[in-house]
Amino acid sequence: MNRNQAIIFEMSVPGRQALNLPQCDVPTLEIETLIPAEFLRKADAQLPEVSQPDLIRHYTNLSKRNFGLDSGFYPLGSCTMKYNPKVNEDVARYPGFAHIHPLQDSESSQGALELLYTMEQYLAEIAGMDAVTLQPAAGAHGELAGLKLIRAYHRSRGEARTKVIVPDSAHGTNPASATVCGLEIVEIKSHADGSVDLEALKAAVGPDTAALMLTNPSTLGLFETNIEEIANIVHAAGGLLYYDGANANAVMGIVRPGDMGFDVVHFNLHKTFSTPHGGGGPGSGPVGVKKTLIPFLPTPVIAFDGKNYALDYDRPQSIGRMHSFYGNFGVIVRAYAYILAMGPDGLRQASEDAVLNANYCLSQLKEDFYSPFDRYCMHECIVTSKNQKQFGVKTLDIAKRLLDYGYHPPTIYFPLIVEEAIMIEPTETESKETLDGFIQAMRAIATEAKTDVSQILSSPSNTVVGRLDETTAARKPVVRWKA
Ligand SMILES: *Cc1c(COP(=O)(O)O)cnc(C)c1O
Repeated sequence: MNRNQAIIFEMSVPGRQALNLPQCDVPTLEIETLIPAEFLRKADAQLPEVSQPDLIRHYTNLSKRNFGLDSGFYPLGSCTMKYNPKVNEDVARYPGFAHIHPLQDSESSQGALELLYTMEQYLAEIAGMDAVTLQPAAGAHGELAGLKLIRAYHRSRGEARTKVIVPDSAHGTNPASATVCGLEIVEIKSHADGSVDLEALKAAVGPDTAALMLTNPSTLGLFETNIEEIANIVHAAGGLLYYDGANANAVMGIVRPGDMGFDVVHFNLHKTFSTPHGGGGPGSGPVGVKKTLIPFLPTPVIAFDGKNYALDYDRPQSIGRMHSFYGNFGVIVRAYAYILAMGPDGLRQASEDAVLNANYCLSQLKEDFYSPFDRYCMHECIVTSKNQKQFGVKTLDIAKRLLDYGYHPPTIYFPLIVEEAIMIEPTETESKETLDGFIQAMRAIATEAKTDVSQILSSPSNTVVGRLDETTAARKPVVRWKA
């Protein structure tokens, strides 16, 4: 193929016919006449060449160094690494979804708008809220959107409330989002049993309280027991209630934040609603609100007049845009396919199974590993390495040794308020056989701690790299190859 042919080949867009797109005439460019002769090569460039098998092997071997849900159990607490059905991918790749242009007018994108509108309604129903925006691109982004809504609400009433109460069992993004929003954080300590301390809450609320942010179930994997009382205390002080619903995998289809008295909630579609995540995105963190907050929702809002869908920008009280266009559309399509496939009963069953699986793990691990809370957990459970401390084994060592057994380690050293935490979230998509395999590996490590501690301390031994300097890896990541 000469240069001209190569250019024509690139411009002819393979697959155009299959997609039923209009054919376009590809102009034949006379490169030699466009570029002065002195700049033209006299001989073809000497590009490195490898054979197809070498190339395939190179990439296949690289891909094998990845660990993902398609390769094994991934009980990373707080992250809900559940299996994403492949049919969601197929649906997101339908040409009508995948090739739609974000600047297309609403007349020619009625189907996409209908999907977004319907998805807002599904999520509002699941959350017990009156309206939903799909714009935020992640859980933390949803928190920021929700806090902006809350601030706009208070300001519209002439109140400059600036304080956000955050229990210490909240996810770390909660105080971070409040700070980014320009609000002040008031942290309250948890009770010894892991629940919000009501006396501390009563002491913290006041006329400057903008909101309380509650992660429920909390990062301790526990359902907040005093929720109605918490809601009453905050509302009585004139504050609003924000529900961090990233852990909704434990409660969807069973209880609804709106019914518990919450005014704003975000979900993580990339956790609970089974769309891929990891490596930083893309994600989706839709926000649901009660009626009083609807005027402040980000624009454009998707409107439906009973016949046509349209984009409504005429919202004078809106907080403005939170994302270019309408959010991460592909992620929303995948989550929509998931909700349709599951149906209301399926979603409830998923939560029930997620909670069952976590409690099964907890009950089986309790003998060997210390469990800080003597109660049932929700969709994730916490144990620690307290019992192994006497042998010189810490949580980090257990996580490293699990790699040798072929498991992605659970989340470790989080939540911060539990010393040497190991946070296990099995999710509902794992079989009893898989859970038993993991439990056996954990028990084997507990035995090794007593009998063969060097095995643990020198692990991992069968991974591509051994123990890394994690501080340097986090602070000075090398993300580019330099020869
Ligand atoms: C994951 C998570 C978040 C943050 O979501 P991102 O999409 O990572 O920004 C917030 N709260 C809780 C409880 C979470 O588990």
